[in-house]
Amino acid sequence: MQKKVIIGRFQHETNSFCSKPGDETMFRNLCFDVGDCILKNQKGVGSEIGAFIDVFETRDDIVLLPTVDFVANPTGPVTGDVFDYALREILSAIEKNAPVDGVLLALHGAMVAVGHPDGEGDLLEEIRTAVGADVPIIVSLDLHSNTTKKMAENATALIPYECYPHTDTYKTGLRAAHMMQDTLDGKIHPQMAFRLVPYLLPLFPSEEPEMKCIYDKTAEMKKTKGVLFPGFCHGFFAADIEEMGMGITIVTDGDRPLAEEMADELFIFISERTPTLKRTFPTLDEVLEKALSSHKPLVIADASDNPGAGAFSDSTHILREILKRGIRNTILATIVDPESVTKCEAAGVGSTVRLALGGKSDPLLSGGPLDVTAYVKMISDGKYVAKAKIAPGEIIKHGKTAVVEIEENTVLIASIPRQPWDTEVFYSHGIRPEEHKIIITKSAVHYRAAYGEITDRLEAVALPGIANPVPDGYPFQNWK
Ligand SMILES: [Zn+2]
Repeated sequence: MQKKVIIGRFQHETNSFCSKPGDETMFRNLCFDVGDCILKNQKGVGSEIGAFIDVFETRDDIVLLPTVDFVANPTGPVTGDVFDYALREILSAIEKNAPVDGVLLALHGAMVAVGHPDGEGDLLEEIRTAVGADVPIIVSLDLHSNTTKKMAENATALIPYECYPHTDTYKTGLRAAHMMQDTLDGKIHPQMAFRLVPYLLPLFPSEEPEMKCIYDKTAEMKKTKGVLFPGFCHGFFAADIEEMGMGITIVTDGDRPLAEEMADELFIFISERTPTLKRTFPTLDEVLEKALSSHKPLVIADASDNPGAGAFSDSTHILREILKRGIRNTILATIVDPESVTKCEAAGVGSTVRLALGGKSDPLLSGGPLDVTAYVKMISDGKYVAKAKIAPGEIIKHGKTAVVEIEENTVLIASIPRQPWDTEVFYSHGIRPEEHKIIITKSAVHYRAAYGEITDRLEAVALPGIANPVPDGYPFQNWK
């Protein structure tokens, strides 16, 4: 008889300080698929679901039952409608196909939904109740998961990414799917131990030496007989829930005491190092001075306005300074301002328009609108296929986009906040980033994967904004 595995993806990283809700529109901007179309849409994509499909493709004795594929850009809490819809679809697939043999999910961790501060914990608890204690629930996680006790109690195994930038999304999907396959084949019996280091880690690239030593430690642990996967997450402090920090999930083959022992060992290892896990950022002045001191392109990442962490991507701090200093030959992706896009479109390509550009979401934090005269070079649908290793093959949508020139600087004005971590945002608009002195992008760390291929001069700044990459100064309400 065919074995039945429920699959799904429901990913949201909630920034509780963002006033925009995670509603259906926000999910539709990225992904809001239900049922069989998921298999068609994700086949061949470098996502976790793409990996699930690839692993089970040759297994005629195992059938994948797709439920939901919901992914949104980070925003404020997910609405009750969307959360209930996803849960209902998953539970009804479980009920309709009962008894199922496994549940394989791609979640983020760090989802806050209205009425569910621990979104994934509540989701997994309901799923566990529906399938019973013996059915494996295996879940891939983003490394920015705020992994909670409830998540760990209700999942058989939690498998986080290990790279930031997340260039191992597909690899993590493969890892989770192989673990499910081996479990269904009776080759392994995953057991998991969980610990939480209650430390709010700044947004930290995994290649920085302070983080790399932790990954060296887990690489060492992987060699221990019986260890299936020693994972740990960085956490996401802007979710502002009670249970935040660096979650450790050690998965072993049928050996709970070993899992507990290694979880303790990694807990001590990380706890001892938290005083070194701090980040400082140069000032904008320092970075601009550096840019002008060489002909090689310099990328300036506006980390606090990163839509990949819940910001609006409309801050004007950097562009204002560039114009004030009379700097030329810079390119910027993106300032999200649908009003300005409409104005540019109405004026038409080849026209000159006056714009109150950006800075509208939160004038105090985002710098307020810039009064500029812009030459409209192009209007596009803002769509391209990602090439960077984070999600190759994924269609990225910035909404209707205007490419404008302001005092010899090129600015992409978009309609939807979406992290421009792929240089394709420029190439797809006929712009060659490597030919520019300064490249400005709204990202904290992910940009390093693609932009690092055109220059080794990468600088992030932490200006005012709701996605500041360091936790100090956040007005936490729930974190204690
Ligand atoms: Zn992440």
